[in-house]
Amino acid sequence: MPRKRSVKLRCPICKKPVKNTDADFPFCSERCRLIDLGKWASGAYVISAPLTGEEETIRDAEQAIRTNSEDPDESE
Ligand SMILES: [Zn+2]
Repeated sequence: MPRKRSVKLRCPICKKPVKNTDADFPFCSERCRLIDLGKWASGAYVISAPLTGEEETIRDAEQAIRTNSEDPDESE
């Protein structure tokens, strides 16, 4: 039976295809590796640095809502 040296698998976090030769295998990147680490460790502690700028996202959303209500009709 022919054997392939590189096996294509998917990152368990973001489902991106990864090779078993990748440095962060079985994850696609260090980021996903840390996310997985945070998953099983979340019961014990929370990662100090947030993975995404959650506050900024909320601020952006609020601004978008405000912008919409200020100027609901863009036609002149
Ligand atoms: Zn990933």
